[in-house]
Amino acid sequence: MSKKPVIHVVSISAGKDSQKVLLKAVERVPRESIRAIFCDTDNEHHHVYAHLDYLEQTTGVRIDRLKADFTAQLAAKRVFIARDLRTRREYKRVPKVDRYGRPVYLKNADGTLKLVPVYAEDDEDGEPIDWRPIQKMGWDGGRKVRWSNKAKRRALSVMYPSGNAFLDLCMWKGRFPSRKAQFCTEELKRNMAVAYQLDLVDAGYHVVSWQGVRRDESHNRRNARVFERVGRGMYIYRPIVEDTAAQVIQFSLERGVRLNPLYREGRSRVGCNPCINENKDGLREISRRDPEHIDRIEGWELIVGMCSKRGFSTFFSDGHDAADRRKVYAALNIRARVEWAKTTRGGRQYDLLADVTDSTGCASSYGLCDSAA
Ligand code: SF4
Repeated sequence: MSKKPVIHVVSISAGKDSQKVLLKAVERVPRESIRAIFCDTDNEHHHVYAHLDYLEQTTGVRIDRLKADFTAQLAAKRVFIARDLRTRREYKRVPKVDRYGRPVYLKNADGTLKLVPVYAEDDEDGEPIDWRPIQKMGWDGGRKVRWSNKAKRRALSVMYPSGNAFLDLCMWKGRFPSRKAQFCTEELKRNMAVAYQLDLVDAGYHVVSWQGVRRDESHNRRNARVFERVGRGMYIYRPIVEDTAAQVIQFSLERGVRLNPLYREGRSRVGCNPCINENKDGLREISRRDPEHIDRIEGWELIVGMCSKRGFSTFFSDGHDAADRRKVYAALNIRARVEWAKTTRGGRQYDLLADVTDSTGCASSYGLCDSAA
């Protein structure tokens, strides 16, 4: 690096990994060269905000809260909807069936079915448990892209900035994010962090971005490098790539720094509450401990639904794409998902213990609850 001053930007999520990264930065570089940032989605648990305050007091490093603002995008969308007079149709790829309604599958040159492996849930690195054929894809009959006058009136009556970044983003998009369209991460976190760091570069600094990424976290991160040059005076440093979750926790505890209390409430990760990728157990925990968050999402579903052309939108989506959106809404709305989260055996049987388990008890996924207290 040249002689430009260096700023170390530590991205904080209030989880165990970024906490270790912050503690490491404090031990290795001068405090005045550290900038900690937290990208606030406005869909956070109150423990997250309290823990950020605690980390600031413990480390002496101020954590800048970054929050996206979609006021301009909402204003532009209102104008777009009001003026929309398009007439063309929009077509969608759909699984192909023959004239009897039977699926049509892809075949190899020798006439045998093409097969893809099926893995157990959350075990994409393991052995396949089965193989399944691949259905051919075709095009549907299409639908008009124009907003109907009824949908326009409905959307324009609510599409105003609410002051909540997550809700405003979904109103602007007319839908909630999904696993396939995870625009929440990009709009609420990544873009905010990148803009913050580019401002520092423009102000004449070298920026080292400290990231709490571990290789054993997921398949995608298995090759994460410790140090990378991004360009334009920006570098990425990942000081905990080789750590395990237990090592990360131990690091904080050895220094007498508490972990986010969410871990003691059964959460294996710290992020949105709930996250659009929340698993069944996580959703059940949230509904038991923080029912007000479920109420909030229920309200958001109504508002975002009004901002969508079809009139319905659900926080959780599983790729369900029935023709009648009302049926999809009934199956996937947050209340229906909470009821599903209380069931066992693929959602067909109620888990009779789900409601009587002591929800105030300690349920850390890492088995370190007592020492983490
Ligand atoms: S992926 Fe989950 S945690 Fe990340 S921004 Fe979206 S909802 Fe929040």
